[in-house]
This record gives sequence, structure tokens and C-alpha cells, in this order.
Amino acid sequence: MYTCDLCEKYSCTKGEVELLPTNCPCRELEKLEKIKSLYKDEELKIAYNSALVESEGYCQLTRIQEIIDFAKRMNYKKIGLAFCLGLSKEAKTFGKILRYHGFQVNSVICKSGGVSKNFIGIEKEKQVRPYCEFEAMCNPIGQAEFLNSQNTDFNILLGLCVGHDTLFIKHSDAPITVFAVKDRVLGHNPLAAIYMAEGYYNKKLFNK
Ligand code: SF4
Repeated sequence: MYTCDLCEKYSCTKGEVELLPTNCPCRELEKLEKIKSLYKDEELKIAYNSALVESEGYCQLTRIQEIIDFAKRMNYKKIGLAFCLGLSKEAKTFGKILRYHGFQVNSVICKSGGVSKNFIGIEKEKQVRPYCEFEAMCNPIGQAEFLNSQNTDFNILLGLCVGHDTLFIKHSDAPITVFAVKDRVLGHNPLAAIYMAEGYYNKKLFNK
């Protein structure tokens, strides 16, 4: 079992081999060699360019700027934008910015396909709005497949729900980055819960 979250040493960051905790992944030299061999071709290009995005824009570029910088360095032309209906205004602005920077943008909303939630076994009473006859399901497999059909070079997620993002990631042919995740309560800033975990949110988060 690996428990980097419990580590107090972070010896991996300093190359201090002799101080590595007993269950440290750095001790698994054979496995590490195999892992390192995976950094080739596209993976190496992604790793190289993302390291440059990090170092050259460190604490200067916002995430959207970093995404644009990364996509340009990677020479991606066709961008897929998979977004949530609840963030459609943000998607319009995002699309405008991406087009301004010369990318071809294919965007697909979560409800694309207009498939009823009934299709996945959600009864009317379990809908977000039980009083509605028709409630469209989020269709992340559809979002991924529609973008796959356009041969996008790179897909960006904007505000997909928990689990829907899981399916999108599972089905996307193109590599993916996340611009923003969905958090309806915290203004799409889920880390706020972590920052309050020892304060006001303590009971919320540590009550089983
Ligand atoms: S990789 Fe090893 S040294 Fe680094 S955080 Fe994990 S356990 Fe600690």
C-alpha cells in the first residue's frame, strides 16, 4: 500500500534515497524503470511541454492561459470542449478565447443527444425535477464519441459532474485536461471544503 498523503519526509522531492519511507514507491526500482520507459513518443512530448508550461509560467499564468500555452506547444489544432449546461455561459466565453487564439473548437454540451434519464433507469421520482415529464440525462459517452468523430487533438472538460467526467475520460480518444470541475455548492471551487475541513465543515466531512 502507498501512503504518500501520510508522508512527512517528501524525500522523493530532494533525491534523498537513504531517507525514503519503507513503503515509498521510490524503493521499487524495477517498477520505476518500467514506468520511466513509458515516457516516450506522445507521452514524452506531453511531459516535456507541460514541464515547460509549469516552469515558464510559474505563478504567472492562470489555468486557462496554461491550457492555451500547452495546446500551442503541443501543436494541437482541433480542440474539443465538453461542457455542462450549467456552465454554458462560461463555455461561450471559453470558446471565444480559444478561437481567438486560432484553435478550431468543437464543443459538445452534456445533454447532447437529448436522451431521457429513463434510458438509464432513472424513474421520474429520482429526477432532479420529478415534476417534469422529460429530463435529459447527461451523456458524457456521447460527448466523448461526438468529439472522437471530429478527431479532436485535445479535449477540455468544463464543469462535468462527478462520474460523468469519469465516463468522458474513459471514452475520449484524445488526451484530456480539466479546466474546471463541478461543485454546485462552492462556486466550482471544491478545495474550499478542504480548506474548511478543520473548521465549519468538520462535522459535514467527518460524520459517517
Ligand atoms: S514518494 Fe516516498 S518520499 Fe515521496 S511522498 Fe511518497 S512516500 Fe514520501
